Amino acid sequence: MTGRRKVTNVLCPLCGGETVPIEYGEPSAEGLEASDRGEVILGGCIVWDEMPTVACRVCDHSWVWK
Ligand SMILES: [Zn+2]
Repeated sequence: MTGRRKVTNVLCPLCGGETVPIEYGEPSAEGLEASDRGEVILGGCIVWDEMPTVACRVCDHSWVWK
């Protein structure tokens, strides 16, 4: 445990649910474990403009959080 667990403090604008950050790029072992725990969503390696950075755990809405 490194203590660098990421949590967002944003709530979903649609349903008010908890949100998790979306990570892009090659997932690390830690990233995969966090994904299994539902703490992060792995967005894959394809990156384009205006990538959503957070996603709702409840309704799957994702958006760019700045
Ligand atoms: Zn939502």
